[in-house]
Amino acid sequence: MGPRERELRREAAVLIETDLTGLPVLLIGPAGAIGAAERRYRRAGAVVDVVDAPDAVTPEVCARAALAVLVGPASTWHEARTALTGRCPVVTEPSGEPRRGRVVLVGAGPGGLELLTVAAVRALAEADVVLTDRLAAVGDLAALAPGAEVVDVGKRPGHHAVPQPQIQRLLVERALAGLTVVRLKGGDPYVFGRGGEEVAAAVEAGLPVTVVPGISSAVAVPGSAGIPVTHRDVSHVFTVVSGHVPLDARQAAALVALEGTLVVLMGMHNLVPITTELVRAGLPGDTAAAVVERGFTPDQRSIVGTVSTLPDLVSRAGAASPSVIVVGDVVEQSAVWTRRVDGVAGRTERMVVA
Ligand code: SAH
Repeated sequence: MGPRERELRREAAVLIETDLTGLPVLLIGPAGAIGAAERRYRRAGAVVDVVDAPDAVTPEVCARAALAVLVGPASTWHEARTALTGRCPVVTEPSGEPRRGRVVLVGAGPGGLELLTVAAVRALAEADVVLTDRLAAVGDLAALAPGAEVVDVGKRPGHHAVPQPQIQRLLVERALAGLTVVRLKGGDPYVFGRGGEEVAAAVEAGLPVTVVPGISSAVAVPGSAGIPVTHRDVSHVFTVVSGHVPLDARQAAALVALEGTLVVLMGMHNLVPITTELVRAGLPGDTAAAVVERGFTPDQRSIVGTVSTLPDLVSRAGAASPSVIVVGDVVEQSAVWTRRVDGVAGRTERMVVA
């Protein structure tokens, strides 16, 4: 492990795991610049004292602190640093400059903390606001984004999703107010995630935008079931399509002609028309096909059969969304694979084989 990687790992661990319960922390910085740091230290359990001018750093205030945090460039806090020397550890926070709002579009991966990138962890740690989706299930978001207000704009059973124009308005308004707004989405934000529309809205408002890619379920969920989307001498093409609306005859014919792997997202309610259309377009009915349901959760399971048998197997198994449908010869690799590997993240598989 190189020094850079060690540093990133340490940073990720600190951001996620720091517990400062009961620790008296003295935060020193101009009012208005320390809000996020204050929230973060309070969430970690610290007992926070705030001082907004160097001359307020009295010996009494120093004596109470176990840790002092200077918010802003340390050079501007020379006086405070001198007062604190020898009394308690001092750390500096690289903020406190006049803040400019920004938008960070972050892919959360297909499930759980393990599939977040280091860049995603860092973006969450720096966020003032997180707008999150139902599919962006990363566990304890409050711990990952301790300085942030978390707004759930996704669809949950019994709740309505916040409409897209309103999400975009929220995103832009908060960023224009000087906040760092993270828009957290399941998988990769640009794969059927409406990320493009949100970036366009932010750019139009003159806001700086960063995009942190995420691991997409299109590849990772089949992979976690041991299905490689490409395989030497089996398939050198894979196509990802939305099954939100059924395929028409022309699309089905084009997909079949590719003789590759077909990955369908959001297709469970159209599984019958999709498989029927593929067979009508000339795909042999005994082509291997699978549904991988609830990838990267303890309930993950795979239903494996052929393009003709899959709809019936799926309905008997009661499998539902979120699931990824995979059609193609690569599915046959999975039987070999699941016997040899125990899923990408160490999960075991339950398989239903036709
Ligand atoms: N941007 C996301 C996809 C959004 S569309 C990505 O890159 O992964 C939502 C669809 O993704 C779901 O209907 C399902 O087909 C698939 N999906 C996402 N997460 C999944 C998971 N954990 N298990 C199975 N399918 C998943």
